[in-house]
Amino acid sequence: MKSAQEARKVILSSVKTLPSEQVSLWEAHGRVLGEDIIAREDLPAFDNSSMDGFALHAADTVEATETKPALLHLAGEVAAGALSVRELSARTAVRIMTGAPIPPGADAVLELEAVKTQNGFVQIEMPVSVGRNIRRKGEELSAGTVVFRHGTYLRAAHLGVLATLGYEKVQVYRKPSVAFLTTGNELVDVGHPLEVGQIRNSNAYALWGLIREAGAEPVNLGTARDDERSLHDKLHAGLSYDVLVTSGGVSVGAYDLVMRVLERLGVQKQFWKVNIKPGMPLFFGLYRNQRERDVPVFGLPGNPVSTMVTFLQFVRPAIQTMQGRTDSEPIRLPARMMQDYVKKDGKRHFLRGILRNDNGSLTVQTTGTQSSAALSSMALANCLIVVPEQRTDIKAGEEVEVELL
Ligand code: AMP
Ligand code: MG
Repeated sequence: MKSAQEARKVILSSVKTLPSEQVSLWEAHGRVLGEDIIAREDLPAFDNSSMDGFALHAADTVEATETKPALLHLAGEVAAGALSVRELSARTAVRIMTGAPIPPGADAVLELEAVKTQNGFVQIEMPVSVGRNIRRKGEELSAGTVVFRHGTYLRAAHLGVLATLGYEKVQVYRKPSVAFLTTGNELVDVGHPLEVGQIRNSNAYALWGLIREAGAEPVNLGTARDDERSLHDKLHAGLSYDVLVTSGGVSVGAYDLVMRVLERLGVQKQFWKVNIKPGMPLFFGLYRNQRERDVPVFGLPGNPVSTMVTFLQFVRPAIQTMQGRTDSEPIRLPARMMQDYVKKDGKRHFLRGILRNDNGSLTVQTTGTQSSAALSSMALANCLIVVPEQRTDIKAGEEVEVELL
């Protein structure tokens, strides 16, 4: 049986980055950069004022005090978007707005609140230091510097910076299409009445959300019954996408037929079973499609928590690697466990936890029942508590490691 780490290594070494494409900045949100972004201009592009106030020569204010203020001629104003070409002559000031270009010759801006004006004069009651309230050309970024590396996940701030730098379009990696199939004779879709022994298909919805949250495009293949015919047709259809994910039918029950059908369709098994809890019967295989690409195929166990945990631990990193992401490792933090936890086996456990900041120290407790069927435990959690293979019982107060969800 593979360890979680070995399983991850096998998966990540067998998936490849998809090609990139050019999209408009609007469409780039939530995508991953496929190029390095270089500042083509200085940012800001010109010296400008960071405040509403008065642009002046600092030298004119050296001796200014409350009782002996410097009186400067008011010589007009510059608004944001205006051009200030006229050289500021000695002992004059101009009214300037936030973001407006600093007039040639001026070397400081005194904010409005600190200035009195009367009869065409401004009254300065203190020495103003050179550079005050001036945002210098190139102080944020100078032309030629690499701003973002390829592999960067583009959030709102990145879009803003790209717009600032004049990038109307950017190269991003293609979004993987991820087909998912739920399996089980007992499954009923939401909105249909339940008969005895039936349960609602929750995994279809959870998988749809997980795939989207991973930045990929979900394709619902529907639900297959636990017979080879039904599985065969739907799995066959699923192999034409970038990734195929199934839930259920990979353990050792009499109706666990998914692996057999996948292998019959030409999927090469890479491993079955990982030393983890929940999610032990995870299957991973590769299918060489017509375009000579290896489609990763994940057979996730059907218990809803197992499905989600194995997706997060194994499918998501694969999807992110296919999208060229270089910053996708989850944040791991040490926290103090607030309760005992009994662990007798040598598996890696993933508990659903609630992480809190307790007066500056991080504490974590489980969300209650840790049954792999209890999906509400996952909805309540804000982290997974990772208990490594070699660790046994945990006593309240001991340190554990958590992964933020
Ligand atoms: P399996 O992996 O097929 O043996 O399923 C394990 C458990 O998960 C069984 O109790 C199933 O009823 C349940 N299960 C399987 N698929 C789903 C699903 N799509 N939604 C909710 N529960 C499921
Ligand atoms: Mg089943």
